[in-house]
Amino acid sequence: MSTYGIDLGTTYSCIARLDSNGNPEVIRNNEDNSNTLASVVFFENENNVIVGQVAKDNIETDGHRVVQFVKREIGKPTNRTYEFDDKVYTPVEISALILTRLKNIVESQGDTIDDVVITVPAYFGLEERSATKQAGELAGLNVLSLINEPTAAALSYCARQFQEDRTILVYDLGGGTFDVTIIKMSMTEEGGVQKIKVLATGGEDVLGGKDWDDKLYDFILRACCEENGLSPEDLDAETRQDIRSKVEESKRKLSQKEKAKVRIDVNGSRTEIVITRKDFELMTADLVGRTMNYVESTLQKVPDIEIDTVLLVGGSTYMPMIKEAVEARFPGKVQQHDPDQAVAKGAAIYASMLGLAVENDTADETGSESSDDIPTDDKRAELAAKFTVEDQTPRSFGPGVVDTKGTKHKYILENFIKIGEKMPAIATKTYYPIEDNQERVRLRAFENMSMDDSLIPCVNEEGEPQATDPAHNVKLLGELIVNLPPNTPKTTKIQVTFKVDASGVHVEAINTATGDKFETFLRTASDVDIDNSAVHQLRISSD
Ligand code: ADP
Ligand code: MG
Repeated sequence: MSTYGIDLGTTYSCIARLDSNGNPEVIRNNEDNSNTLASVVFFENENNVIVGQVAKDNIETDGHRVVQFVKREIGKPTNRTYEFDDKVYTPVEISALILTRLKNIVESQGDTIDDVVITVPAYFGLEERSATKQAGELAGLNVLSLINEPTAAALSYCARQFQEDRTILVYDLGGGTFDVTIIKMSMTEEGGVQKIKVLATGGEDVLGGKDWDDKLYDFILRACCEENGLSPEDLDAETRQDIRSKVEESKRKLSQKEKAKVRIDVNGSRTEIVITRKDFELMTADLVGRTMNYVESTLQKVPDIEIDTVLLVGGSTYMPMIKEAVEARFPGKVQQHDPDQAVAKGAAIYASMLGLAVENDTADETGSESSDDIPTDDKRAELAAKFTVEDQTPRSFGPGVVDTKGTKHKYILENFIKIGEKMPAIATKTYYPIEDNQERVRLRAFENMSMDDSLIPCVNEEGEPQATDPAHNVKLLGELIVNLPPNTPKTTKIQVTFKVDASGVHVEAINTATGDKFETFLRTASDVDIDNSAVHQLRISSD
């Protein structure tokens, strides 16, 4: 039995475990001759579903039967589905196909895979997290936990070298997303335990290696047309697919060499195009600039912070132009080790730590495992003692309540718990019924990206949609109905508690006059079942 760490990426996924010396190692995808697996699924026909490079090679010619970038859809309110051969697939099911393929890679090399940790972006909300976990379960994996990608990258980095207190900026440029995360790693007084805490996140989910590919594709396509005196419309689908399939390879070559040659069959005649690294850097300079702007705006979220180390993560940081730009901004602070594998390796370290805890819990019944392939318990205990990953709230949470001060009542969201608090996070506040003899209270729970104490939510007290700053990403999670006994005065104190942990939000309301307790557990926004027949709310002040 082994525990594995999985980086379920937007464009490439990767799976790793600890070797017998306790060092993280990636399980190679021999079929594609790569350390990673393209997160692309090709539904060739009803009996044949292909995941990986072969699926990716079919994008241009059979694009209508190929699914890519599914991570952008997982757990999103759009509820997008994909239909092939009269079967409908959800993003969770497509993700499960990718995870199953990773599982098969491990099994084809003679190991069994039981417990896993899957990584998610630091900015994923509860719903995206819960959907990712579901995908793992659907693939037959026991998901011990999820871990934030930059935290995993920092774990793999600090497994390499002993660290004192550090503030780390993780610059993660992948295939389809760019994430900046500022992380604090600290040592506790006793016994050198590392703590990892996320301080700020930023970036864009439609900026990545694909944008560099697109620029190169346009460049090669134009060059082919010029060489052959054609216009772009004259190129057939095969020629386009030929260019598309060579773009990424040429980009990778340019990370190592000053020049790359591409041979394309243009309508039957062979055309050779030479691209220099300089050309490539010139045509993509604006993209590099955009990433650096996100670095600056994320730094502004934590004023006066001093960055000690910058970690380059994500396959696209292999491009020399990235390292140069980041080095110029943070001279002498940049580190880069296996950028496309660091996240999976960190997840493997974490999985092993958690796996050890699980085994210790059940050791009496099962006895301890011994195998040459898995690290010794001593080695794992050493690792487990070294780090604690402080789980933090990925969003802010709170109830919608009415502010009755002033001439006009205002329905507002009060943030009880804010992004980045240590989980489980718990907060309580007292509210009051709006009027005497109110029969019930409909207490709505929201998640959002704001650090403000209060804000306007995305619905008003009647449950109608409201204009709200999209950057705050306010989402209604659900509601708790609190029934009040007859003749309840409006001065009755109703104590509201929110408790957030990795599995969801627990909302509780206690009528302090009667001791009646009402509670609900909200895991995802799909739990929402709003009844708009009557308006019954709570107000902030007693006067
Ligand atoms: P994800 O974004 O899915 O987490 P990765 O971090 O593995 O995936 O990044 C994938 C991106 O990295 C792809 O756009 C790929 O083309 C690019 N990439 C991988 N290796 C190189 C390389 N040597 N040079 C340039 N780009 C690379
Ligand atoms: Mg990634």
